[in-house]
Amino acid sequence: MEFIQAIPYPLLTVAVFCFGLTVGSFANVCIHRLPRKESVVFPGSHCPACSAAVRPLDNIPVISYIILGGKCRDCSIRISPIYPAIEAVTAVLLLAGFFKFGLSFDFLVYVVVAPALVIITAIDIEHQIIPDIITLPGIVLGLAVGTYTIGYANSLLGFFAGGGLFYLLAVLSNGGMGGGDIKYIAAAGALLGWQKVLLVIFIGAFLGSIVGLFQIAVQKKSRKSLIPFGPFLATGTLVTLFYGNPLIRLYLDYLGR
Ligand SMILES: [Zn+2]
Repeated sequence: MEFIQAIPYPLLTVAVFCFGLTVGSFANVCIHRLPRKESVVFPGSHCPACSAAVRPLDNIPVISYIILGGKCRDCSIRISPIYPAIEAVTAVLLLAGFFKFGLSFDFLVYVVVAPALVIITAIDIEHQIIPDIITLPGIVLGLAVGTYTIGYANSLLGFFAGGGLFYLLAVLSNGGMGGGDIKYIAAAGALLGWQKVLLVIFIGAFLGSIVGLFQIAVQKKSRKSLIPFGPFLATGTLVTLFYGNPLIRLYLDYLGR
């Protein structure tokens, strides 16, 4: 750690951002392949249309996309701007986490959790699932880290409070709540504890209902065409990671303790 602390702060900031871009690039691979149950390691990146392997110099996050004008070098098909957007968002999130947590254990956890939230959001929007391959290791990680940071009792309580509440909702709503959501919120609960997982659910439901009402009003969607809950839960988790403590304090003050 002393070695890292000797690095000038501005340089460290740039390093975190570049690292974030690289992680974002890997997040793209996960977003594309995990729902198809493909390996995220092999084969290397290739064009979705002509399957030509992406050359190393054409695989630089964001920059290659701009240089190539958003097109495949081989077949010139347009590549979705979502790819560089995912890279940029991941880099900005990691940078924000670095500013918030500094070089700490919390930041180390955040470096794993934040990209996972990006991946979950993108996959849930496209496929309406949150894959087990993310949530199940997430539960293990949540319990392990939670035991270390908030104690095993609160970690277990968060696991059961989040998972139990969503399981109940799934039973009551007759399939309105997916199994992926249940496993996700159980993992979040194990990581954050019972108070913060309730905050995640509250923020997620709040954002979800605003966007839902907006969709019904603007796009004339029926209430039946379900919008996935994952992106809102991921956003709620992110907000809670950054502002969970002050928000909970605010709520307790409001209750007039
Ligand atoms: Zn191509």
